[in-house]
Amino acid sequence: MSGSLTVVGTGPGKAELMTPATRAVLDRASDLVGYGPYLDRIPATRADQQRHASDNRVELDRARHALSLAAAGRQVVVVSGGDPGVFAMASAVFEAVEHGDPAWRTLDIRVEPGVTAMLAAAAEAGAPLGGDFCAISLSDNLKNWSTIERRLNAAADADFVIALYNPASKARPHQLGMALDLLRQVKSGTTPVLFVRAAGTAETKVVAATLATADASVADMRTLVIVGASTTRTVGRWVYTPRSERLT
Ligand code: SAH
Repeated sequence: MSGSLTVVGTGPGKAELMTPATRAVLDRASDLVGYGPYLDRIPATRADQQRHASDNRVELDRARHALSLAAAGRQVVVVSGGDPGVFAMASAVFEAVEHGDPAWRTLDIRVEPGVTAMLAAAAEAGAPLGGDFCAISLSDNLKNWSTIERRLNAAADADFVIALYNPASKARPHQLGMALDLLRQVKSGTTPVLFVRAAGTAETKVVAATLATADASVADMRTLVIVGASTTRTVGRWVYTPRSERLT
């Protein structure tokens, strides 16, 4: 039987937010490849299934390993958190294909969509992504900080709702503060800012602030930050962005 490679996402955390299609792919897999904590979210399926846990930072090595297993005839599933195409493993797999063994281009490679953190986080707070929005990762491991600044400025200038992935980590404690300072120069201090930690899990926590009061130290690597557009507003305990920009 010829091999295959499918890239899946577990969703934001709780089992119900993993799609049935992803579950079916996981049940059929001979080999699971991924970052240890993501693999731990997957209940044991078949006794003959092999799990290859690796460190989170070695994405390209992990992608190459998965491709070699598929080329050797295995039914391989590469596991990401959330959606596999959003700041995650699907791109790493195609990058490895582009620069790797030409035979990998003929492999049966598929991507299954998953629930990304931004959607789970928005749902915890109401409907902050109800208007036009964008997503920016604040991690400068793979891109320059000047690129991030340029995109933050453009997004603020165009009045998008902005979802910030990777707002902070132990190695990068200052970037969210710098990003919020940059946004304060362009956007109103009354703009709603949401810190949603562990969205779509039993431990979820939402901190609602404004751009003027937002405290960057609230965020860690399990937090998704949403900065509103000029129309984003609060009603009761919810935050939403109306679909019409003409609402007063
Ligand atoms: N592929 C993932 C994103 C990977 S980047 C997805 O689609 O969700 C990792 C970042 O995603 C984290 O630093 C955090 O900003 C965000 N994130 C992932 N899971 C989250 C969750 N359950 N709640 C809030 N943010 C989360």
